[in-house]
Amino acid sequence: MNISAIQPRLFFKKALATNNLNACYSSSCSSTPVKINQQPNTDTVSFKRTPECIGSPFVHDPRELELHCACCNRKMLKNSTVQNFMNKEVYYPTYVALDRIKDEQNFRLHEQSPAMQKVYSFIKNEANNYKSLNLEQLVLKERVINYKKTASTEQIQALNELRARCQEVAHDISHIVEKLDELQPDFQPTEETVFQDLKRYAKIYPTETIKEIINKPEIKTEYLTKLQQKQNSKLSKIEYLIEELSPEYAIKAEKALSDSYQIFNNENTNILHKRQRVIELFNSVLESIPPEMATDKRIAYQIMKRLEDLPDSKNDTNAFMIKYAPRSANSITEVLVKRLRNTKEHVKPHHREGDSGESNKKNYIYLCGKCNHERMTQKYDEFIKKHPQMPENTQKQIDEICDYINKGILEGYDTWPNDIKEPLGDESEGLIVIDSSKLNLSEAKANRAEKMAAYIEEQKKKAEQDTLATGPYRRHGKKK
Ligand SMILES: [Zn+2]
Repeated sequence: MNISAIQPRLFFKKALATNNLNACYSSSCSSTPVKINQQPNTDTVSFKRTPECIGSPFVHDPRELELHCACCNRKMLKNSTVQNFMNKEVYYPTYVALDRIKDEQNFRLHEQSPAMQKVYSFIKNEANNYKSLNLEQLVLKERVINYKKTASTEQIQALNELRARCQEVAHDISHIVEKLDELQPDFQPTEETVFQDLKRYAKIYPTETIKEIINKPEIKTEYLTKLQQKQNSKLSKIEYLIEELSPEYAIKAEKALSDSYQIFNNENTNILHKRQRVIELFNSVLESIPPEMATDKRIAYQIMKRLEDLPDSKNDTNAFMIKYAPRSANSITEVLVKRLRNTKEHVKPHHREGDSGESNKKNYIYLCGKCNHERMTQKYDEFIKKHPQMPENTQKQIDEICDYINKGILEGYDTWPNDIKEPLGDESEGLIVIDSSKLNLSEAKANRAEKMAAYIEEQKKKAEQDTLATGPYRRHGKKK
C-alpha cells in the first residue's frame, strides 16, 4: 500500500489539530466531548472465534450454513463471511492503521508521553509479526495479554487510546459500499434505507468516510430535523388522551409531555436513550394511577401503546443515523453487517432470571442479529404478537437444516430437529409446532459416506502432489 497516497482526513485534522484529544467530532455538538482516550467502543461484533472444521468434509455449526432467520426469514450471513468481511474490507491491519493515524490524526510520536512511546513501539513490533491482524485482534494475542499484565496504568491508558485511534481509521465510503453490495445483503427495511442512503453518498463523496459524511452539518441536520418531526408528531397524538385523564393525573402527564418535547428538541444530539427516558417519564406518572381508576388506567394503557411507536434506531433511518453518527468510524458498517449475522438463539433464554436455558444445541435455533437482539428474554408467545410469521419461518428453518443433514453437509445435528420441538413448544405456549418429517437419516448416512470417501481421496491426492513437489526429505525439514 502506498501510504503517501493517502489523503489526510480533514475531519480528524480538525478535531486533533490543537492536540485536543477530547474534541468532539460531532458538528452539532458543543458540550459533550467524545473522549478519544477512553475505553474503545464496545458496540462491536466479536470476532474471536472462528468455527472451523479442520480435517473433515462436514459443517459442524449451523452458523456456517446459508440459512434464513427463523423469525424474519431474511437470508443471514455466515459467521465466517462476516468475520472475513470485517477483517479484510472494514478494518485495516494494525501496521497500516498505525501509519494512517499519523496522517489522518496528526499523531506525532515524539510529542507523545513516554508511556505512549513505549506502548507504540511494542505494538508496532507485534504488528509486524502479525501483518494481517487489526489491533482488536492483536490485543487478544498472548504476548500482548502478558504485556498488559505488567504494564503501568499510564501504559494501559495509552494502549486504549491507540485502540480508539485505530478504530477511527476507516476506508472510503465507495470501498465499503462496493464490498457491502458484493455480500448481496438481504436487509430489513430500515437497514435497506440506510444502505441506499450510503450508496447515494458514495456517488457524491466517494473518497470520504461514512463518518465524515454523516457528520456533515447539512446531512446530519436533515436527519435530525426529520427525526424531531416524527417525535413531535407522535407526542402530539397523545395530547388529547392526556386531556381525558382525571385532573390529578392530567397535570402530571402534561408535565411529562412538556419535558419530553424538551428532551427531543432541545437536548444535545449525542445524549443517548432519549426515547427510553421519555417512555419512563410517562410510565412513572401512569403507574401511579390506582387500579380502581379503571377509565384512567385504560387511557394510560393507550398512551403507553402510542409511545411504543416513537422512532428508534431499529425501525427508523433518521434515528439510526443520529445514534451512530458520533460513534467510532466503522460503527455504521459494523451494525449493518451485525444485524444480518447468523446467531445462536437460546430458545429458552440463557439469562432469564430463575428459569434460564442451557447453552447447548438442543436449545438453539438461528436468528439474524437484529431479531435475536429484539427478542431478549421475552417468551415467544409475546414476541410472536409482533412477529406473526415466526412459527412459519421457524418451520422453514427446520426444513432447511433437515435438508443440510440429508445432503450429508451438516454433521452432529441428527437429533436436533426432534430435540428442538419441545423447547419451542414450551416457550411459545404451543404456538410453534414443528414437523421434522423432512429429516431422512438413511439418506444422510449414504451422502456422508460418499462425501467422506471423496474427501479421503482428495487428501491422498494432495499428499501425493505434496511429495512430488517437495520431496520426502524436505517435507520433514531434513534437506536444505
Ligand atoms: Zn431476523
